[in-house]
Amino acid sequence: MTKQTFTEFGLNPELVEAMTMMGYKTPTPVQSQAIPPAIEGRDLIACAQTGTGKTAAFVLPVLNNIIHQPGNGIKALVIAPTRELAVQIDQQFLGLGYYANVCSLAVYGGNDSVGWDQQKKALTTGVDVVVATPGRLISHLNLGYVNLNEIRTVVLDEADRMLDMGFFEDILKIMKHVSAKHQTLMYSATMPPKIRDMAKKILNEPVEISIAISKPAENVLQAAYLVYDKDKPQLIAQLLKGKDLSSVLLFAATKIAVKLVAKTLKSLKLTVGEIHSDLDQKTREETLRLYKSRKFQVLVATDIVSRGIDIEGIDLIINYDVPRDPEDYVHRIGRTARAKQSGVAITLINEKDQNEFQRIEKLIERVVVKSPTPEGIPDGPAYQPMQQRRRSQYSRRRR
Ligand code: AMP
Repeated sequence: MTKQTFTEFGLNPELVEAMTMMGYKTPTPVQSQAIPPAIEGRDLIACAQTGTGKTAAFVLPVLNNIIHQPGNGIKALVIAPTRELAVQIDQQFLGLGYYANVCSLAVYGGNDSVGWDQQKKALTTGVDVVVATPGRLISHLNLGYVNLNEIRTVVLDEADRMLDMGFFEDILKIMKHVSAKHQTLMYSATMPPKIRDMAKKILNEPVEISIAISKPAENVLQAAYLVYDKDKPQLIAQLLKGKDLSSVLLFAATKIAVKLVAKTLKSLKLTVGEIHSDLDQKTREETLRLYKSRKFQVLVATDIVSRGIDIEGIDLIINYDVPRDPEDYVHRIGRTARAKQSGVAITLINEKDQNEFQRIEKLIERVVVKSPTPEGIPDGPAYQPMQQRRRSQYSRRRR
């Protein structure tokens, strides 16, 4: 039977209180299924997307364990693919661990020597929880002062994304430094065979949980425009001009496109923030923070922020380019219409992205409406993805 309240999990009362303070009275499905075995010390593999409450599903048992067995040294290690996600997870540890007096640290690259020294100091003097991106943690580990012998829990968050980013070997390397006796909680938005392979290598008789349904929430209105690349900036300008939108998130494939779109939107007197790899980590974090607190209307970003980042109440998501991975489409549009709100997601499809978009439509088992371009914007290429093209060639041959 699934548990209905946090108290029923046997969690420390301080943690239950912290959840209540945050307004979370009822566990989400992933929390109901993941917290009890995690508290028992079992290994776990959970297929759950961002937005399901998965972060608290591992943060709570980790904190619970530390409260009940305090001691010296680093007791839990969370590995996450991006700096942004690491910071966000660390913030959940901070929020939920506040009353419990548990301290955590986010360890990631892209900061200056002061950042490095702070991380080094915290890693050597011992924080309870380290939330790290793989590359930076390995840099510290290689210098020999990080002791992971007291680790009781390792969490791998967004494991599929980490493998996509080429972190497989790094993760195995890190795991070699971790004490033999620990539990591992592995979270992944998707379960491709390579994740199963990794699970076999590092998990011990894991409890399996599957929460993710690769379908966008029903309350997201999805639409697409067939448009040539050269007309995209103008189309975006038309779509946003004069609209009373407080929170728009636009994803583009390249930093060049991000800069171009940001410039176009600024010329419309919209307030715009940009995130791409030419900006340093501090600037990216600050931009994200300002956007979250509604200090500007539009955030234009490369896909570094598409996964895992929790921003609530976005009015409109725009895919300036079709995402390469259909799962990313679902993740991106999952940024809108969270917590029972409704939202709109618009995708711009050029001729060469049509096949990719059809893969998305297959995944979400829905044909997305292709809206006519507004007046003044030339019609785009007709929608003829490969399968349809093959079909029409075939019927022509038969005729
Ligand atoms: P996540 O999937 O971890 O990114 O969480 C998505 C959002 O759900 C975050 O804003 C969490 O703070 C929120 N959340 C987590 N647990 C609960 C809960 N039990 N009830 C309501 N919201 C929650």
